[in-house]
Amino acid sequence: MAAWLLPDPETSGVFALLVLLEGWRRVPQSGILLRQTPVSGWQRASVWRDRTSRRLIHVFPPISSALVLESGGVREKRHAASHRPRMWEVILVWFSGLIGTLGIVLVVPFASLRFGWAGLLSTLALLLTLGCVTAVVVFRYLRRMNLPRGRASGIALPLISPFAIGRGHDLLREYRCHDAHPAAVLRAVLPPADFRAWLRTTVYDAVHSSRQDDYQIVELLGMSSCQRILSELPHPRDSDAEGYCPRCGSQYRVIDALCADCGLTVRAWA
Ligand SMILES: [Zn+2]
Repeated sequence: MAAWLLPDPETSGVFALLVLLEGWRRVPQSGILLRQTPVSGWQRASVWRDRTSRRLIHVFPPISSALVLESGGVREKRHAASHRPRMWEVILVWFSGLIGTLGIVLVVPFASLRFGWAGLLSTLALLLTLGCVTAVVVFRYLRRMNLPRGRASGIALPLISPFAIGRGHDLLREYRCHDAHPAAVLRAVLPPADFRAWLRTTVYDAVHSSRQDDYQIVELLGMSSCQRILSELPHPRDSDAEGYCPRCGSQYRVIDALCADCGLTVRAWA
């Protein structure tokens, strides 16, 4: 590629770093962080359980996606039905996020290198216009979700920034899932085996701890269902495995061992 077609690498690098820093966010205590990339489905990322932590949750959204669920779960319903964003809103916010992220990292540095101030200001004006449209679409959706005007504008306004515009699509998803129990969201997005592992671990903690947050899953499912989940053997069963962890269901070839994730003694197959 001819050198004049390339953006200024230093400016591109700084702008890419600023987009990345937008993704450095707080994950609440006991929050569940889900990530999706173009080559993977949704996956659960591990989160330190007993303290609020900052994590790089977004990496160049909307190319990759992140969703934070609060495991404290069953919130009071603010509205009778779940309001999905309209299809055109999802498509518009996704494309404007993609154009915004690629634009600020590649097009703005290229235009400023090639056309000077005129290139810089015109491309920035275009991205800011795109950001305003995105912010208005997200704001209107949040208002339909009954968020107060001040809160909705506080969430939507940062999307005007070309560094943050890519988060719009994740915000639509986050507020669509806001009133759903995490179990319902995880069941919808995770592969069945991953969902079963999450459910077993969560139910185990609920039954064996006195934490109010944990116990909500028991209130949701009922104690008998929780006992049944814990008494079920992990499925599918690895033919070489001699036992399994009673908490997470991981299977092990030796039973005289501790689970690498939970530290519990591996239980032999019944
Ligand atoms: Zn385990």
